[in-house]
Amino acid sequence: MKLANRVSDIAESVTLDITSKAKKMVKEGIDVVSFAAGEPDFDTPKHIKDAAIKAINEGFTKYTPSSGMPELKDAIAQKFKKDNGLDYTPAQIVVSNGAKHSLANIFQALCEAGDEVIIPSPYWLSYPAMVNLAEAKNVFVEAKQENNFRVTEKDLEAKITRKTKCFVLNSPSNPTGAIYDSDDLKVIARLAVKHKFFVISDEIYEKLIYGNKKHLSIASLGKDINDLTITVNGVSKSYSMTGWRIGYAAGPIEVMKAISNLQSHAASNPASISQKATLAALTQDQSCVEEMKRAFEKRRDMMVSRINSMKKISCIKPDGAFYVFCDISKLGIGSVKLANKLLDEARVAVIPGEPFGADTLYGLASRLAKRLSVRAWTE
Ligand code: PLP
Repeated sequence: MKLANRVSDIAESVTLDITSKAKKMVKEGIDVVSFAAGEPDFDTPKHIKDAAIKAINEGFTKYTPSSGMPELKDAIAQKFKKDNGLDYTPAQIVVSNGAKHSLANIFQALCEAGDEVIIPSPYWLSYPAMVNLAEAKNVFVEAKQENNFRVTEKDLEAKITRKTKCFVLNSPSNPTGAIYDSDDLKVIARLAVKHKFFVISDEIYEKLIYGNKKHLSIASLGKDINDLTITVNGVSKSYSMTGWRIGYAAGPIEVMKAISNLQSHAASNPASISQKATLAALTQDQSCVEEMKRAFEKRRDMMVSRINSMKKISCIKPDGAFYVFCDISKLGIGSVKLANKLLDEARVAVIPGEPFGADTLYGLASRLAKRLSVRAWTE
């Protein structure tokens, strides 16, 4: 049987490989310490679950408008205004089945064969796969450790061509935890406006920022960049709602209209019950977000100090998200091999850094290939 090229080309994820191996070991009764999951371990806060139960009991169990129920889109517009200083109308907002779905929709709506998408590397491994599915070309730009894993103006400018359609901005970043400050964002905005490409700003870790750092939405820097930005967010990480599958995007009306049409045929609407739960998450008491953030910050501090007290392994203290991205180059072993060794011999599950972009940059023997993303703070 011949499958379509677009699916045959998707490689099986090394990440899932290790996770399923760890799960199998747990099933066999082996005590595995897992740092592998990219999700908070907290339960979804009670008032959010209660809103969903109420929705079920009241029969809110039918189709909603494809782009999301009006009440929720209003609440999202208010959230954008209050948290990010952004003036999106509900017509500019599409609610989807997780931020991942929002992103997949965006690439489908904007990109086609011949287009180039610039992605800072290391990257969240789903971006390149989504770009491939949209038949566009991935162009990676290295976000160097010496610049706290942020892309520099010179490096970004060198990758821009007439085919550049989008730049993917992910601040705070998965896997590095890097945060782009106002100067970094101004540079990206200036280049986007000058060369006329879209910025896809994935702000899913917005609420998980530590110390004095603050989140800034690139779309808030001015009208020109606002017209070229699609801002993506969701409730998975901030409210511990990974299984509820609600994400959302906002941007120029023509783009969002196209996304809404696309979604109406591919997925109808995100689950009505999850939309009600999200409405409660966004509009009710926010102290749960702060509590979880404080716990993550404590875990980060402990993890970073323990890792940096080891001889041949080190990490930068990440400013956001809940991952620790370690430099293992002194160990002389690749990250996939090391992750397997750690699981087999020490019964510790971690995610290798290699599928997050190292090979693309350096080849197998590279320095970055020998990094290890310890998805640490969630367990
Ligand atoms: N963006 C980034 C950078 C992520 O790490 C994730 C999840 O791991 C997502 C988006 C997708 O989140 P969700 O689809 O659960 O909303």
